[in-house]
Amino acid sequence: MEAAMSDEDSLRSEILRAAQTMWQKGYVVGAAGNISARIADSDRIVITPSGAPYDTMKVEDLVVCTLGGEQLSGAGRPSSELFAHVAIYQARPEVQAIVHTHSPYATALAVNRTPIPFCLDEMYYSLGPRAIPVTEFARGGTQELAKSIVKTLGRENKAVLVANHGTFAVGADIREAFEISEEVEKAAMIYILARLTGQVHSIASHFGEST
Ligand SMILES: [Zn+2]
Repeated sequence: MEAAMSDEDSLRSEILRAAQTMWQKGYVVGAAGNISARIADSDRIVITPSGAPYDTMKVEDLVVCTLGGEQLSGAGRPSSELFAHVAIYQARPEVQAIVHTHSPYATALAVNRTPIPFCLDEMYYSLGPRAIPVTEFARGGTQELAKSIVKTLGRENKAVLVANHGTFAVGADIREAFEISEEVEKAAMIYILARLTGQVHSIASHFGEST
């Protein structure tokens, strides 16, 4: 009898597919960016490895770690942003998946440290009626950056711009976290184009928000 695919096996396939799509869409170059997911009802996560190219990556290259950051399996090292991933899972129990990209429009705004206002109707459905904030700067891969991302995500935000670096998006599953990343990039592109061509109007007041 063939065993059913375990939660870990299906997460590995989904993470690999999302990581390759992230690379194909130009949201990262080389081996940058990373994706993880929580293994259901456990204190373990599956995360992309550090420094490995996405086009030749295989499910067995993905790394399993505890929420304490201890590596349990995988030949390579876990992503250099492991600290940020485990810190988010510890702070937000409802988060099941995390996508970190360097997508160009969002990263441009992360470089000039401009939050994306709630200015696009479609943002409401994925991100809620709120701006996408920018973290404090800290160097990549540090505990300081992990703290800054967790602080800026707070309890409600599904995405942040990481100062001079890129984006972090969270979701109830890999599909949602990836779609949030796409929405952040789309909103960043539209916001930049809108600022270049005229005045940007926030729509927060129409959704009962003050900002
Ligand atoms: Zn990065």
